[in-house]
Amino acid sequence: MTSDNPTPAAKDFRRTEFVHGGDAPVLAIVIPCYNEEAVLPISVPVLLQLLDRLRESGMASPQSYLLMSNDGSRDRTWEIIEEMHRADNRVKGISLAHNRGQQNALLAGLMAARETCDVAVTIDVDLQDPPEKIVDMMQLYLEGKDIVYGVRSDRSSDTWFKRNSAHCFYRVQKSLGLETIYDHSEFRLMSLRALDLLSEYPEKNLFLRGIFPHIGLDSAIVTYPRTERLAGETKYPFTKMLAFSIDGITSFTAQPMRLIFFVGCVLLLADIFVAIWVLVSYFSGHSIWGWSSLMLSIWFLGSLILIALGIIGEYVGKIFNEVKNRPRYAIKDKLI
Ligand code: UDP
Ligand code: MG
Repeated sequence: MTSDNPTPAAKDFRRTEFVHGGDAPVLAIVIPCYNEEAVLPISVPVLLQLLDRLRESGMASPQSYLLMSNDGSRDRTWEIIEEMHRADNRVKGISLAHNRGQQNALLAGLMAARETCDVAVTIDVDLQDPPEKIVDMMQLYLEGKDIVYGVRSDRSSDTWFKRNSAHCFYRVQKSLGLETIYDHSEFRLMSLRALDLLSEYPEKNLFLRGIFPHIGLDSAIVTYPRTERLAGETKYPFTKMLAFSIDGITSFTAQPMRLIFFVGCVLLLADIFVAIWVLVSYFSGHSIWGWSSLMLSIWFLGSLILIALGIIGEYVGKIFNEVKNRPRYAIKDKLI
């Protein structure tokens, strides 16, 4: 992975041929929307202007478009998208029948865009992540990167609680062996190759932030300070964020089950000290009748039960990995 330093001249670009575009790639900006009637009329014109800018600089094809992924909104979100589509057919959309969450809305949008784009960028509709950074992302893509992660350098616009709870989750996830990019959310560029590989992950419990590092293609980051929502309210209160983080851990690692086994082993060792203490109390006459045998059995059986659960956990972990049915590897280059 490289840090962001995107200032090459257009002629330096490594990518020059595209599956869907001619000389320039077709860019699809995929935008999940859930009850976003307040923010759509502000953010869509900004993103359309950005497409104009990319087209004028030759970095994106004129066929580039916005793909609004309506996540079962109950307000006028879809009607507004329809109106915008009639006014400018670069605004395209898909609409999910129910609210299935941001991850599913993103995946649905990406899989629909995959049919007609060379490269996709996902961004939240509230534009808390600055759309002008898409230009830097596109430069890195044209230099040959397959994935470009948007990383927040400053979260001062988030509340103290949101900032710290998010950092706490990153640390827990990392310590459990889950590979994620620190302070990266869903603002990300993906080449068609990355999208093709994503389509081979059939899992239902989606955690896109974990899948892309798992795919492991050439990647880079661009950093930016996160700003406030343009309008409307967050659709991610603390309870939803907590559920999402737990989902991230349980979708990617069976490590918590292995921890049970180690806790059992540590307790079994601790049994030696407990046994010494219990026996000393017994022989010095400081214990009542039945206490010593009860203590010894509780500690010994407790640690055996944990070890047994840990062993079962190892097998459940294997089943967990098998049912995910993820590709074992991704071939990056071939010389045959
Ligand atoms: N979103 C979605 N489905 C949901 C919740 C959110 O598609 O069930 C979209 C939402 O419209 C926005 C993005 O996901 O484009 C991020 O949501 P939000 O800005 O509310 O989250 P926050 O930035 O506060 O974490
Ligand atoms: Mg937001």
